[in-house]
Amino acid sequence: MPKDINAFELAQKQFDRAAEMLNLDPGVREALRWPMREYSFRIPIRMDDGSIKVFQGFRVQHNDARGPNKGGIRFHPAETFDTVRALATWMTWKCAVADIPLGGGKGGVVCDPSTLSLVEKEQICRGWVGAMWKNIGPRNDVPAPDVGTTPQMMGWMMDEYSRLVGEYTPGVFTGKPVGSGGSEGRTEATGFGVIYYVREALKHLEIDSTKAVAAIEGFGNVAQYAAIGFIELLGGTVACVSCWDRHEKKSFTYSKKGGIDPRFLISITDQYGTIDKKAADQAGYLVEDGEEWITKEADVLIPAAIEGHVNAETVKKMSSRVRVVAEGANGPCTLEADDFFKANNIFNIPDFLCNAGGVTTSYFEQVQNDMNYYWTKDAVLERLDTKLTLAFNAVLETSIKEKVYMRDAAYMVSIMRVVKAMDLRGWLHGTW
Ligand code: GLU
Repeated sequence: MPKDINAFELAQKQFDRAAEMLNLDPGVREALRWPMREYSFRIPIRMDDGSIKVFQGFRVQHNDARGPNKGGIRFHPAETFDTVRALATWMTWKCAVADIPLGGGKGGVVCDPSTLSLVEKEQICRGWVGAMWKNIGPRNDVPAPDVGTTPQMMGWMMDEYSRLVGEYTPGVFTGKPVGSGGSEGRTEATGFGVIYYVREALKHLEIDSTKAVAAIEGFGNVAQYAAIGFIELLGGTVACVSCWDRHEKKSFTYSKKGGIDPRFLISITDQYGTIDKKAADQAGYLVEDGEEWITKEADVLIPAAIEGHVNAETVKKMSSRVRVVAEGANGPCTLEADDFFKANNIFNIPDFLCNAGGVTTSYFEQVQNDMNYYWTKDAVLERLDTKLTLAFNAVLETSIKEKVYMRDAAYMVSIMRVVKAMDLRGWLHGTW
């Protein structure tokens, strides 16, 4: 996120705008602008060189009116209380818009996982659970992977929690590895979910997906499966992806005439999402500055990296061909970018709607953990498609009926669902 953009202020401003449109009660408004509970703690670790290092950990539980708090844990050097607050808030709206019975939470550790050994990472994971286990649980708060965390890490965390409570509890973390309580389809879910929405948006705008071109920012889990899905599920072309190069500490855009091949690029990407520049160059890829992705001639832009990259400055570089912006990342577009989309009639699929495929499949994972019966990948992805298509249509309908922008419509749908749950639980009558 650019330094002058505070993610939590952005989340609150977006909420305020929708709350105003809904004429929401000032007290309810104040309650929803802030997380219900916040935790900040230290995780001391013995490093491989024998020294002790202390890492900063966070967990924020924004609202659990609709069910247990839900949301990932990020391992990122630039993590702050405010980024976690923002992401926890967006999780509340995400679960509500996808209509899954869960609330919103997020966690973090200030660290750079690419500089840590496997043993050090495992200790941080177990330390995080050691600090938080009394405040999480399958009926309370259920973390998952996010930027910098992996299914293996969720496996360690679930194991630590099970050890501490004295019984096998797979439903306390989701995004676990398949074979250790994980769900088939979880890996593909967020990226494919983005593509199910893009399919619906293109249908609505009467654009032939087989002639459509997408430009993608990022090449982590979401971007990789969005690229594969755009080509293999919709028959479109992907002009470029971009990625953070951890060796050069800057990002690059990778494009190819006729479109990129995501499966090839995955084969030359390391576990931290850095593409091998030399191998890409040898295979005929054009390697440019990281910001170039946004300038490509494309019908669909998919920012799937981190917050605030589509902002007042970068948005000016967008090609006039762009018709759809599908936000694979959380919070990739600033309020100024929104104003630009509105002025230029660009169809926006807002983040907490667009990337809800991950958490929806996490919910399916929990259901399978509870039943101790596991579905096939096809069954998971089919249920996911049905759920997300319903969510898209509910938001589109509100956007058309209320004559509001898609992001505001998504906020209106989710805020009303959360407020309804608060009311039905009696929270609006003073017993919170
Ligand atoms: N980290 C993902 C998100 O931001 C998934 C969260 C989850 O599965 O709980 O939506």
